Amino acid sequence: MLVAADEHLSAQGILDRIDGGDAPINESSVYRTLSLFAELGLVRESRLDETATWELFHDDAAIHLVCARCGHVIHHDTDLVHELRRSLEGRGDFVPAEIDVRVVGRCDSCEPAVSDS
Ligand SMILES: [Zn+2]
Ligand SMILES: [Zn+2]
Repeated sequence: MLVAADEHLSAQGILDRIDGGDAPINESSVYRTLSLFAELGLVRESRLDETATWELFHDDAAIHLVCARCGHVIHHDTDLVHELRRSLEGRGDFVPAEIDVRVVGRCDSCEPAVSDS
């Protein structure tokens, strides 16, 4: 299901990709499995829009560049997230667990578009 690191699928999207055959798989069992995988560090949950999406695990340092037009997602590696984490840890009154940075814009196949709708 989560084959490529660039794939970000909602639980419903994962369900759609699983051929249940004779035994239909329900959404809650997919959630349970994903939560377990997340605890094991195999997948991560990322919020790319209102829906949580799941993908193969990657470090928080890879932030998500999301194309507002086609939904294409690019991973961008940056040290800024580590700096942010260090800075947050320095506060002393808050322990950051997960940093999920999302930047919305246009991918290069959508950028040449003239219309701004
Ligand atoms: Zn990602
Ligand atoms: Zn695009």
